[in-house]
Amino acid sequence: MARMFEESVRDIMNRPGEMRERELVISVPERFGEALAAIPAGEELKLDVRLESVHEGIFVSATAHSTMHAECGRCLEDFTAPFEVEFQELFAYTPTEADEYGVHGDHVDLEPPLRDAVVLALPFQPVCRPDCPGLDPESGELRDAGAAMATNVDTDPRWAALAEFKAVESSGSGVPESESN
Ligand SMILES: [Zn+2]
Repeated sequence: MARMFEESVRDIMNRPGEMRERELVISVPERFGEALAAIPAGEELKLDVRLESVHEGIFVSATAHSTMHAECGRCLEDFTAPFEVEFQELFAYTPTEADEYGVHGDHVDLEPPLRDAVVLALPFQPVCRPDCPGLDPESGELRDAGAAMATNVDTDPRWAALAEFKAVESSGSGVPESESN
């Protein structure tokens, strides 16, 4: 299924200085990203690729545009947002390091560097909007923005979101603390 990311470089191989640009529109073959934010299988991904022939191989510069699907780390709502990431990678004719990409036959496989770039760029703690107030730890309802500001005023937003997760978990556990007394 990585085949759709394979790009022939036959026309520019071993011709340093030659350059070619290409635009690929791909339906993502399998989910990119394992956490709250991901690009799911079937989502459209547009890849603007520049392929440059250099002495050692083919130097690829690419920009990917797609749509990220995520769950908000504060209010737990699903949302989508435009996603863009760039990467540059040398595909060597004779890779010398284990982690170096190579030209295979007469093509390069853009999928591994694309996947790495996407996964690194996806937000670890996505938020549906910068001022999302999150859930009220007591009621589990969406808080009003003013209350959230007052509570989170000197807390790192990442830890605040974690604290809210914990609060939601413990209030939903079904064992009210008053009964354990
Ligand atoms: Zn939210």
